[in-house]
Amino acid sequence: MNIPVTSVEGKKLATDFLATPRKHLINGKWVASQSGKTFPVYNPADGQVIAQAAEGDKADIDLAVAAARAAFERGPWPKMTPSQRAKLLWKLADAIDAHADELALLETLDNGKPLKLARMADIPGSAEKFRYNAGWATKLNGETMSANKPGDWHMYTLREPVGVVGLIVPWNFPLMMAANKMAPALAAGCTVILKPAEQTPLTALRLGELIQEVGFPEGVVNIVTGFGETAGAALSEHPGVDKISFTGSTEVGKLILKAATGNLKRVTLELGGKSPIIIFPDADLDRAIPAAANGIFFNSGQVCAASSRLYAHKDVFDKLVEGVAKHAEKLKVGPGTEPDTDFGPLVSQEQIERVTGYLKAGADAGARVVTGGKRLDREGYFVQPTVFADTSHDMSIVREEIFGPVLSASSFSDDDLEQISAKANDTTYGLSAYLWTQNLGIAHKMAKKLKAGTVCVNTFGLDLAVPFGGYKQSGWGRENAREGVETYTEIKSVIVGL
Ligand code: ADP
Ligand code: MG
Repeated sequence: MNIPVTSVEGKKLATDFLATPRKHLINGKWVASQSGKTFPVYNPADGQVIAQAAEGDKADIDLAVAAARAAFERGPWPKMTPSQRAKLLWKLADAIDAHADELALLETLDNGKPLKLARMADIPGSAEKFRYNAGWATKLNGETMSANKPGDWHMYTLREPVGVVGLIVPWNFPLMMAANKMAPALAAGCTVILKPAEQTPLTALRLGELIQEVGFPEGVVNIVTGFGETAGAALSEHPGVDKISFTGSTEVGKLILKAATGNLKRVTLELGGKSPIIIFPDADLDRAIPAAANGIFFNSGQVCAASSRLYAHKDVFDKLVEGVAKHAEKLKVGPGTEPDTDFGPLVSQEQIERVTGYLKAGADAGARVVTGGKRLDREGYFVQPTVFADTSHDMSIVREEIFGPVLSASSFSDDDLEQISAKANDTTYGLSAYLWTQNLGIAHKMAKKLKAGTVCVNTFGLDLAVPFGGYKQSGWGRENAREGVETYTEIKSVIVGL
């Protein structure tokens, strides 16, 4: 991949942005925390502090919720037509594209990911979320119903915005996760409070400036930075918030659900995964091998839908595992800002400790290290892309979400789809599942048997046009597609006796 990763102008804008202590966006103004507190933002490639962000807590969340409530109930936003909202969303998408160099560099410095990945996936992908959802703004309708009882009636539904929505997002795709929630919420006519992850607040804050530039009314989008246990918890338990949409760990998802019981706010949860990739003996290995490798090493494995459990038929197992290991060894590991880097550092000190803990647990449990297995001896949070083979289902590396570049591989000799799918489904998660076979019958039979929100056949990847979400402890509800925007609405039934 050879693309110009950043421009001189993008670099200058990003540098200027980092030099200024960042604030919260509340009611159309940039304000410091009520407490005056700030927290450092780190570059994962060298562990150095690159910026200061405002440390928000309950007091700041209270102000942001009040602003979002006022903007939802009064002001220009509720009076705008869906097509006016759509136009603003398109303008924001164009602004993101126009600032792509700068945003990509900020994302790389903040999260660690390769600049070419940020420039090709995260930033244009974020713009696309706004464009796609702009199209839904004008297509959210109720229905008319034929009455089930005798008499003259007119019965219909109205589809209304759910209200003030809290958006709590993780650090793996900082801008894209923010866009993924903000775009449908705004398309539906809601107002929002975004709480970016404390590890990666920067691109959300730059987005806030673009939101002001393109002319969203004040209070429609509020952004409060801070920690999960304080700012995030205050948002999720707030009685003035009508809905929380959360992406993150299953553990925190459960806390959010508890916090939501106070006012029974609506909750959408997109949580962890331990997604299987199943390779049948007839699979096109030339495509399956790089897909299996990308499925676990893309974004340094920090992907909720990563294909972290590989099951391959014994006839192709060795070739596959060897191929994935070779792919891993060819990845250029380094700081994301270097143009040829394929594989950047993990996001944080906490995350490197977590992943190295699993590397040790896997080796201790007797899994065979095919490649990798170690932290790199250099500054920053670098770990080797790792393949474990001959793993069994009682190992923690097979059962638990690692959220890092660690694949566990085991073989099967069965032809019985029931047995194969039982193994794949033997997990508390159910986010995605991946299948490689040329046999249409097997593909569709397996797609039915797998307990996962998304099943990919001979591919790795998602699309905005199809719903995304989890079975079991991978979440509640769906994002993307019609479902993803309707989740920010309420249905009101109107019954008229004629
Ligand atoms: P990780 O452990 O990988 O950082 P988390 O699920 O903890 O993932 O974090 C995802 C998002 O949830 C972040 O924005 C974080 O600040 C937020 N968060 C963490 N704990 C809480 C909490 N108790 N209540 C609300 N939000 C939280
Ligand atoms: Mg956490």
